[in-house]
Amino acid sequence: MTIVRDSFYINGEWVKSTSGETLDVTTSGTGELYATIPAGTVQEANRAVEAAAAAFTAWSNTSPKERGEFLVRISEKLAERSDEIALTIANEVGMPLMLSKGIQAGLPTMTFADNAQRASEFVWEEEVGNSTLVREPVGVVVAITPWNYPLHQIANKVAAALAAGCTVVVKPSEVAPINAFILAEIIHEVGLPKGVFNMVTGLGPVVGEAIVAHPKTDMVSFTGSTRAGKRVMQIAAEMVKRVSLELGGKSANIILEDADVPKAVADGVFKCYLNSGQTCSALTRMVVPRSRLAEVEDIAVATAMGFAPADPITGASLLGPLVSAAQQQRVRDYITKGIDEGARIICGGVTPPEGLEQGYYVQPTIFSDVRNDMTIAQEEIFGPVLSIIPYDTEAEAIAIANDSNYGLAGGVWAASDEKAFEVARKIRTGQVEINGGAFNIVAPFGGYKQSGIGRELGKYGFEEFLEVKAIQHP
Ligand code: NAD
Repeated sequence: MTIVRDSFYINGEWVKSTSGETLDVTTSGTGELYATIPAGTVQEANRAVEAAAAAFTAWSNTSPKERGEFLVRISEKLAERSDEIALTIANEVGMPLMLSKGIQAGLPTMTFADNAQRASEFVWEEEVGNSTLVREPVGVVVAITPWNYPLHQIANKVAAALAAGCTVVVKPSEVAPINAFILAEIIHEVGLPKGVFNMVTGLGPVVGEAIVAHPKTDMVSFTGSTRAGKRVMQIAAEMVKRVSLELGGKSANIILEDADVPKAVADGVFKCYLNSGQTCSALTRMVVPRSRLAEVEDIAVATAMGFAPADPITGASLLGPLVSAAQQQRVRDYITKGIDEGARIICGGVTPPEGLEQGYYVQPTIFSDVRNDMTIAQEEIFGPVLSIIPYDTEAEAIAIANDSNYGLAGGVWAASDEKAFEVARKIRTGQVEINGGAFNIVAPFGGYKQSGIGRELGKYGFEEFLEVKAIQHP
């Protein structure tokens, strides 16, 4: 049965859409209609901003402890509804249910809990010479989010902003929005004061641009494509608004000569294919010693064979479909481009996996002998497509990793952690994992170069939403 949502969450109430215009959300595993949501107008966007602005003074004057208590309750209710959230996102985005539970439902639960504690423990004042430095919330925050880890990306912004004492207007992705309605329901249930959290669904150029341009919003926290991020930054520049941007990536995974190659390659293939490659920090460029290229190719292909795509709900695979027909076409076009530019395709291809012609599936694909100046090595594909790039010297491997407009993440594999650490320091990205180091929910996440500005998560993510005031005393 199709889910029908017809209201926005504004000023503590569900407010019916005035235009009656709707947007369709599809089930990525089947291509069928999953839900309809209201397409917001500029008037509705403005109404949400007015509510957030009116609520700011009172909310910013609550104690961090009180704000933390709200966040704990939100986290608890997210945990209670985690099965429903996991299923929703498995339908909307296509991440297999078994992964969706821990990642798509689990991470936001942890992020709300972490920010609750952070608000309570944060040192809000410090003395510097004859000044008292006071940290204050930045104001009304605009949160614009994408579809790939939809609730995680909303939580990264909303939990930290609320903990800091800001009020928010969220414009979730129109491609995977139903999870955001669940969060709004939870926020309503815990009784957050009206106007502190507002949500208007709709299109980026309509609702997104209206809330960014509104004179009463103070900061824009945006996650999405570099293209839309640049647009948001231009609009925000008109009023010198603070922006925090989490954009794309093209992350390199350097495997050094002495590394445990079978382990490194298998782990690297998984880190490229997670969420069908729709992960901004996906390790999509595997940079390997030319002397070991044949061995790497064999292991990579064998590993990819274990990622036969399947329905995200009923299947038992780690690889589901892509999010949408548009995304599927985009990825196929990149595969064609890779072939045209002379990269050697060693598994996968443009045709859909056998038996999965419905839904938005793409075969797990690997290119080898990729040169770093090829389009598939420079542009973000956002699909299950790995590029293997050979190198001759360690210095060349580092140069390849850094030869990118992006600078979000990376990986290094070496026989010793010390050696991997030494190479990690030379990579110009916001995160680097060495020898398979796990994702850390309280480590700052964000990019160098065109991957963005600012950080999310943990202490640094929280501080993005704070101003600093210096009060001089005699
Ligand atoms: P997108 O840029 O198309 O959309 C992201 C959000 O921005 C959506 O809510 C959309 O409606 C809105 N938007 C679009 N145009 C806008 C405009 N002109 N003004 C205001 N808002 C606008 O991106 P997407 O397709 O949803 O997501 C995929 C992209 O996001 C990929 O490039 C990926 O790398 C990036 N991403 C980055 C991170 C990160 O943390 N660095 C995380 C996830 C995704």
